[in-house]
Amino acid sequence: MIVTRFAPSPTGFMHIGNLRTALYSYLLSKSQGGKFILRIEDTDQVRLVEGATDVILKTLEMTGIDYDEGPVVGGEHGPYIQSERLPIYKEYAEKLVEKGVAYYCFCTPERLESLKDDKGIGGYDGHCRHLSKEEVEKNLAEGKPYVIRQKMPTEGTTSYYDEVYGEVTMDNSELRDQILIKADGYPTYNFCHVVDDHLMGVTHVVRGNEYLTSTPKYCLLYDAFGWERPHYVHLPLLMGKDADGNVSKLSKRHGAVSFQDLVEHGYLPEAIVNYIALLGWCPKDSNEEFFTMDELKNAFSMDGLSKSPAVFDYEKLKWFNSEYIKKLPDDKYEEKAMPILDEICGDNVDKKLLASLLHSRIATFDEIRDMSDFVTERLPMSDDLYTNKKNKTTPEVCMEILKDCLPVLESVDSWNNDTLFEKLKAYAAESGRKVGAVMWAVRVAVGRKAVTPGGATELMTILGKEESVARIKLALGE
Ligand code: GLU
Repeated sequence: MIVTRFAPSPTGFMHIGNLRTALYSYLLSKSQGGKFILRIEDTDQVRLVEGATDVILKTLEMTGIDYDEGPVVGGEHGPYIQSERLPIYKEYAEKLVEKGVAYYCFCTPERLESLKDDKGIGGYDGHCRHLSKEEVEKNLAEGKPYVIRQKMPTEGTTSYYDEVYGEVTMDNSELRDQILIKADGYPTYNFCHVVDDHLMGVTHVVRGNEYLTSTPKYCLLYDAFGWERPHYVHLPLLMGKDADGNVSKLSKRHGAVSFQDLVEHGYLPEAIVNYIALLGWCPKDSNEEFFTMDELKNAFSMDGLSKSPAVFDYEKLKWFNSEYIKKLPDDKYEEKAMPILDEICGDNVDKKLLASLLHSRIATFDEIRDMSDFVTERLPMSDDLYTNKKNKTTPEVCMEILKDCLPVLESVDSWNNDTLFEKLKAYAAESGRKVGAVMWAVRVAVGRKAVTPGGATELMTILGKEESVARIKLALGE
């Protein structure tokens, strides 16, 4: 059975690239009826951020990436938080020492510092490789701080096959004896992720390609233990478009880069998942762009993965989001839209009507605020808005229309869209004016904005009688 995992470090928010890694890893296993594990990699205590694990759990929950084993749900290979597995790493590092492929190193920080060149670069020289058993025991008994290092080969090459990038080879002469357990007793990432992936039965390691070239080192650990190496699937970088037209690694200067930020700006988790699924993968033999999670599980396969960097396109995400918002059933849409309207609109506003008019017009929920500005304030406006070629209106014509319509509107008792429409239509017929011209004049006077989410009578229904009449008077200079 195929087993994959997502192994994030709780260092802050959930970067979109990380979420894509989680998604692809999840889809790879689920497309083949496999198992998906969540493991929290928190051994780099300096980089830990409080609350970051909760952000990871919440993100997976909101996106529907459910794990079979992991924190909270448990499983046969737990614990799933690395800081709770320290004795396991110690035990396995000692196994390598016993096998003679790892050793205790007592070199002081000062000594290691002296090995560096002017640029601060320098590797370990293998000084403690050949300490005798007695020397090691004496040092340990004296309580000297130590690290455990792996003896790396100094000649030849180490290769592995990556499912996306193909053969990757490293010259062993570039290798230094890597640290497995640090002086503070914590394991290095290099070591503990290999131990965990093996003990948890991971068959396919899916992760970002920043690990592509260091993976030969991890392979040497599998070899040292005599364990079978997993398959490797490294994913191409996510890039963002720079102002100058070039692309660079997706970062904050390109826009929101965390799942949380996108959600806060009014993006739907389903739309985000759908969009990022296509950032580096495409379905075989189909141009389909819309996928539910279940459809992704069916369609996903490794041969659809690309090794060229994917460029995150905010406009495309927006488009996906607008399509997803349109497809939301009214009650689900209102659940998200109404709290925003309640916050920004007064009690006299017909928020339900405003919400329904915005449903097909917004690309993100954030846009509700911008598109509702004409409701929450009387916008500054210019008379140019009254000029409309199609309806043959000018500011002067519009003033005449508004003057006539004011008493008509003031006399309306049941203030609703249908009645208002009938009244204005009747006025147009009586006065011999085009309905379009009448509606234009009233819409501009009431909305005070070129583009509004509804026509004259809808805007007046939203604003209510008092405010609508007041705005027409304002337009007339009364
Ligand atoms: N904790 C590592 C990270 O967040 C995981 C890398 C891996 O998947 O092996 O980058």
